[in-house]
Amino acid sequence: MPSPDSTRRVIIAGAGPVGLTAAVALANQGIPVTVLEAEPALTHDLRAGTFHPPTMEMLAAYGVTDAMLEQGLKVPHWQVRDREMGVVAEWDLGMLADVTPYPFRLHLEQHKLARILLDKLLAYPDTEILFSTPLSGIEQDAGGVTAFASRDGETLRIRGKWLIGCDGGRSFTRKAIGSEFEGFTWPERFAVLSTDYDLSAHGYARNAYIADPQEWVAVFCVPHDGPPGLWRAVFPITDPDEPDEEVLSSDGVQRRLKGFMPWRDHYDVPYASIYRVHQRVAKDWRVGRVLLAGDAAHVNNPLGAFGLNGGLHDAINLAGKLGAVWHGRADDTLLDRYVRQRRNTNIDFVQATSIRNKRLLEERDPGVRRERFDELRRQASDRNSAIPFLLQSSMIMSLRKAEEIQ
Ligand SMILES: Cc1cc2nc3c(=O)[nH]c(=O)nc-3n(C[C@H](O)[C@H](O)[C@H](O)COP(=O)(O)OP(=O)(O)OC[C@H]3O[C@@H](n4cnc5c(N)ncnc54)[C@H](O)[C@@H]3O)c2cc1C
Repeated sequence: MPSPDSTRRVIIAGAGPVGLTAAVALANQGIPVTVLEAEPALTHDLRAGTFHPPTMEMLAAYGVTDAMLEQGLKVPHWQVRDREMGVVAEWDLGMLADVTPYPFRLHLEQHKLARILLDKLLAYPDTEILFSTPLSGIEQDAGGVTAFASRDGETLRIRGKWLIGCDGGRSFTRKAIGSEFEGFTWPERFAVLSTDYDLSAHGYARNAYIADPQEWVAVFCVPHDGPPGLWRAVFPITDPDEPDEEVLSSDGVQRRLKGFMPWRDHYDVPYASIYRVHQRVAKDWRVGRVLLAGDAAHVNNPLGAFGLNGGLHDAINLAGKLGAVWHGRADDTLLDRYVRQRRNTNIDFVQATSIRNKRLLEERDPGVRRERFDELRRQASDRNSAIPFLLQSSMIMSLRKAEEIQ
């Protein structure tokens, strides 16, 4: 149980991968943390599965990356394809071998990362996680923050110096501080279907984005129970009137998959889900002693795999600055630099690029499609242009730019 009157701790709402990363990075600096999680256990989340090189660099300091590498699939190549023409451009992250010790994408299910992080967290002294304890109220004063959380029908009152809201896209924390979630929601839902059918037999890289004016697809192979893994395919649900139950019915799932993969009469599909997709950024990321990180602060479409990666970058950035404030090496205005760096990067890079990626895949004008494909082919075929492209798409360039923001 938390020490109710101790202000000497940081409270984190949400034990998703972002909250747990913030907790580990704070605990590593000797800062006591309490994590409040609404669910009774870590969620078995099938959303994110692709990690970029800078994320692995950041998590290496806590021994997390080594554990991820043991369980994950290294993906050095990824493709942009056209549903009819096949490969448009193939990218080789090996070209970044001089820039990063991790010149590949790593595929690993989000819930496996959360488990690794939780094990690391609980190995530090003075860390705790309270499951089935949703944050339900926040008060702050000059000396600290009081978090109210419901548990077994009672309201707990937990004192801390700071509170970080990592409680996901529907964040209670964001609403409690009155921060508007600016942006928009795409009209189409996304269906994510997983199958053990091995697309590499048809020339697919383990991560591929397949353009089509009627129905684009994005595929990526995750480790699941070990090789050969499961292939996840993301489809837009273009008919707004198609009910969720129909999309997820056996017929609906088989029809969608067979339209894209006409090689089998029936595919085993252990997982199928539907997501609403948003492009939104919270207006305020800090109000006094309360800060936001991860999906609580920003959400975007999954094309490019920036959502969780960006959230983990928030967590590491914020924990570093909060540590400096905690140990008296900086005053709390340093936390405003966290907001400037991470919020600007999210708007300028994550939002802009994920929207551009979606537009590329769904473009209907044949002339525009041709132009964009030609440009990609040109970039991929010449090392001098492929390297800058890879630095952008693997988030390295946007992090370098963020460092310049004071
Ligand atoms: C189909 C799909 C594919 C994706 N693929 C990728 C990818 O490949 N790469 C990538 O980078 N991103 C990807 N994303 C995005 C990624 O899944 C999210 O960005 C990520 O889950 C955000 O992590 P988080 O910890 O901020 O929030 P979450 O994972 O949502 O965790 C929030 C936690 O807070 C808890 N919580 C909620 N309310 C409260 C409360 N009041 N009190 C306490 N706890 C609370 C929740 O139970 C949950 O455990 C994808 C998303 C989708 C939909």
